[in-house]
Amino acid sequence: MNLELSEEQEAVRRLAEEFVRREVTPHAAAWDREEGVDRGIVKRLGALGFLGLTIPEEYGGSGGDHLAYCLVTEELGRGDSSVRGIVSVSLGLVAKTVAAWGSESQKRAWLPGLTSGEALGCFGLTEPGTGSDAANLTTRAVRGPGGDWVVNGSKMFITNGTWADVVLLFARTSDAPGHRAVSAFLVPADTPGLTRRTVHGKLGLRGQPTAELVLQDVRVPADALLGPEGKGFSVAMSALAKGRMSVAAGCVGIAQAALDAAVGYAGEREQFGKPIASYQLVQELISDIAVDVEAARLLTWRVADLIDRGQDFATAASQAKLFASEAAVRCANNALQVFGGYGYIDEYPVGKLLRDARVMTLYEGTSQIQKLIIGRALTGISAF
Ligand code: FAD
Repeated sequence: MNLELSEEQEAVRRLAEEFVRREVTPHAAAWDREEGVDRGIVKRLGALGFLGLTIPEEYGGSGGDHLAYCLVTEELGRGDSSVRGIVSVSLGLVAKTVAAWGSESQKRAWLPGLTSGEALGCFGLTEPGTGSDAANLTTRAVRGPGGDWVVNGSKMFITNGTWADVVLLFARTSDAPGHRAVSAFLVPADTPGLTRRTVHGKLGLRGQPTAELVLQDVRVPADALLGPEGKGFSVAMSALAKGRMSVAAGCVGIAQAALDAAVGYAGEREQFGKPIASYQLVQELISDIAVDVEAARLLTWRVADLIDRGQDFATAASQAKLFASEAAVRCANNALQVFGGYGYIDEYPVGKLLRDARVMTLYEGTSQIQKLIIGRALTGISAF
């Protein structure tokens, strides 16, 4: 793999870095306190092409490869994980899945809006009773006499849920013994019977709209089915495999922000008559962060390279997500230690980094689930 960025990749990385410095970082603490990022950011992300990365231009996308997508995701995560998550879900889990599995008319109907930021997508897999064991979901879609579907059930912890225009929804379409099956649907969020409730009080990602969705006799047409009937679990797993690269890249951004903050503060803060950066134990904290940043970044770039070369990447994506999410927590925690008591109050950025990092080890498969995926690939034995 060539670790030198091309001119195009470096240009898109710089564009993202400047956008974040100008329009995200100055507001991140306030958005966190107020539990809501400025919704106008979605259209600005779209205008810069950040919501259309890797999507073909004929559907409104901005093209580019997966490494460019990682670079933008890292910069967004460095500025504010709430903003990064909005992109990772609407582009990474929804638009990319429509591009991969959608019919021509579904791509034409949804991708121009999703890539421009006129529309936002959310990914409805988790339910109150099924998280890690997603294949056991109980939301049900029953086909009516006219070929349309009637959906009943509920979804929990849905990122972008209250803002989304379209829900990529997973529902059980067969319970027949030996043929239990899940299907994927593209459901406009304003469909009668679909209600949403904001989930308040999150530890981190507080600026991000997270919702519970309730579906009561929601009627969707036959052509809302995404991919073949009964193949919804494959649709979900393929989305999450690529999604894990995006989460890992966001974690690299958190870890890099922790490094920047720790180095900056250690050089300014004096104790015992010298900058704390001059003490070996503080340098140990900083060097541990730096090694985690580099290792997480290289594992993440490796996934992008495998995807762009058409190779198997799912195990590598689990490895990158597992390592990068745990590393982001360690890095933010080490940076907080460098800040001492000031790290514990929200006038300084490191406490937010730690809170935002913590969820990365939980969603899109917990750390334990990633280990089971990696273990299954290595041993051939499923330990789920
Ligand atoms: P559980 O599955 O109940 O797990 C609890 C614990 O048990 C964990 O430690 C887990 O690792 C462990 N465990 C479970 N099974 C095993 C096993 N077989 N072996 C070992 N340990 C096991 N979901 C969506 O569909 N769309 C979204 O947009 C979305 N966004 C989210 C945003 C936030 C802020 C949060 C918090 C969650 C989000 N989720 C979303 C849901 C997320 O993916 C789930 O929370 C996650 O998959 C874990 O499920 P759970 O919370 O039900 O935990």
